[in-house]
Amino acid sequence: MDSKNSYDLIVIGGGLAGLACALRLSKVGCRVLLLEKNPYPHHKVCGEYVSNEILPYLNSLGIDPFERGAVSIDRFEVSSIEGKTIRSKLPLGGFGISRYALDNLLYEKLSERAKVHFETVEDLNFLQNEFTVSTVEKNKYRSKFVVGAFGKRSLLDVTLKRKFIRQKSPWLGVKAHYEYEFPGDLVALHNFRGGYCGLSQVETGLINACYLATYSSFRKAGSPKAFKEKVLIQNPHLRQFFSKAVSVFPKPLTIAQISFERKQAVEGHIYMIGDSAGLIHPLCGNGMAMAIHAAKLFCDLFLESVDKPNFRRVDLERNYRLKWEATFSRRIQTGRMIQRLFLNPATANMGMKIARIFPSVIPKIISKTHGDVVI
Ligand SMILES: Cc1cc2nc3c(=O)[nH]c(=O)nc-3n(C[C@H](O)[C@H](O)[C@H](O)COP(=O)(O)OP(=O)(O)OC[C@H]3O[C@@H](n4cnc5c(N)ncnc54)[C@H](O)[C@@H]3O)c2cc1C
Repeated sequence: MDSKNSYDLIVIGGGLAGLACALRLSKVGCRVLLLEKNPYPHHKVCGEYVSNEILPYLNSLGIDPFERGAVSIDRFEVSSIEGKTIRSKLPLGGFGISRYALDNLLYEKLSERAKVHFETVEDLNFLQNEFTVSTVEKNKYRSKFVVGAFGKRSLLDVTLKRKFIRQKSPWLGVKAHYEYEFPGDLVALHNFRGGYCGLSQVETGLINACYLATYSSFRKAGSPKAFKEKVLIQNPHLRQFFSKAVSVFPKPLTIAQISFERKQAVEGHIYMIGDSAGLIHPLCGNGMAMAIHAAKLFCDLFLESVDKPNFRRVDLERNYRLKWEATFSRRIQTGRMIQRLFLNPATANMGMKIARIFPSVIPKIISKTHGDVVI
């Protein structure tokens, strides 16, 4: 194999985790190759509210989302199926920017210093301390280290025989951008039977509406249109939104089989970051911050150990696994619990009553699913 196809490290998947990882490592002189299947810019199913916990770190990578028109968000609103509403200040706040703009911003920075190839990885082979990465486009690349940043669910998870992929997941996500009058500083989360819908502004002034629903409730309705008319609009806030908002997408984007199962942070000697390592429930609003944070955790450990004479792969794998667990496991568990309570109408209503009497409980719950500011 040609030595030009040999790299210090290969990142598979160029969402926020993969881009942040490749950017950081390329900044310190590593020869990094990022393999991403879709050219930028592209839309993704996502609530597009980014927690401020990751902003200083993004800035340190030379990324300023506000340069591309991101909007500051510091208020939160949550409603029950019947439309009962609670509002709160967000403890740390965040910003609204589309994945179309944010991923592309990181890609532009990365392409100044590292190779990005638009190819789909179909297989990996680890032999004699080295990976051979093969793509559908019939190229082969070599590296001692591979980072897996291929998101919540990829065909590669099947190839790698990852355990979680065997379980069917009941969740699907739907998203589109709309023209609608909505406060720029607010992120809203509206409950409906079998799911919830987030509303917030992005850099274009449009409103992103993104919902997570169970496949069974969706199938019962028959089509996205019927789902909207039969299920979503039972919440008065969503009725108001969907009766007036005008979609600028030809049709909503959808993804199915969103898995919140436990995954491993290292599998087959591949360091998993972002959703490849584990996905927090979207109602916590910090999956993107966690994806970038996991990339940082890996890069810190990699850079402080890889050039040491006593470097051992097994140590890096153990240390990364432990660090990932210590940083994210609890948050993911809390997210799981909140989602369960929120989706059960009885517990959701009781929670709303308690939060009305003790409003300070909301920022406390939000803080439990978020970390400290990452620098
Ligand atoms: C409905 C919903 C709403 C959400 N809302 C929010 C929110 O408001 N705020 C928030 O912070 N988080 C939110 N999240 C979570 C957030 O979207 C994810 O945590 C985040 O996108 C993770 O980034 P990532 O880089 O790990 O994965 P992704 O962004 O999914 O990137 C993975 C990349 O890998 C590529 N890829 C996959 N397979 C291959 C292959 N074989 N070869 C090459 N490339 C490959 C894909 O094309 C993709 O670009 C939401 C999630 C869902 C499902």
